[in-house]
Amino acid sequence: MGNQSSVSLQPEDIEKIGNETGFTASQIDRLYSRFTSLDKEQKGYLSREDFLRIPELAINPLGDRIVHAFFYESLEGTEDKVNFTDFVRVLAHFRPIEKQKKSDLVEGGGQNTPNSRMEKLHFAFRMYDLDGDEMISQNELLAVLSMMVGSNISQDQLVSIAQRTISEADTDKDGLISFEEFVQALEKTDVEQKMSIRFLS
Ligand code: CA
Ligand code: CA
Repeated sequence: MGNQSSVSLQPEDIEKIGNETGFTASQIDRLYSRFTSLDKEQKGYLSREDFLRIPELAINPLGDRIVHAFFYESLEGTEDKVNFTDFVRVLAHFRPIEKQKKSDLVEGGGQNTPNSRMEKLHFAFRMYDLDGDEMISQNELLAVLSMMVGSNISQDQLVSIAQRTISEADTDKDGLISFEEFVQALEKTDVEQKMSIRFLS
């Protein structure tokens, strides 16, 4: 993508990103305007501050964690920069599942599209896994719960909620929730709906 000051998206970029994420060309176009409007100084990438200008994230109690996930996802993410491809790749996790192409719904198809149930679960898992060791500890769960509920619930109550949640999900009793345990615990919840945020509205 380079550093050209006249920012324009090449047709081959659109095609590549579309194939990877399932977004249509016109959606990618709109996301690109969104990206460039967030990139106020036309740096060609977004910083953490740029993300905080997204209203959906600013009002979401998990906004901070979602922003963190964008940077985790960024492949060249050694620095705090998210380029357009990274941006779309992460947004693809929030693409409502009912908009998937028919071919993705055929048995065996669509398993690896970014908005498949597994991908969404993994994305959600990483929001709780603050230190990125692929395990959710009681402290991590507690920290995320505190962010979500604000000060409406006492710390003692939160601790007991966190303990109960861990013990319910922790099938191998090591005191931590692994991704497999997380998936089992959420087996019956409607992750698809909860993880569908309308970025394109
Ligand atoms: Ca962890
Ligand atoms: Ca465990």
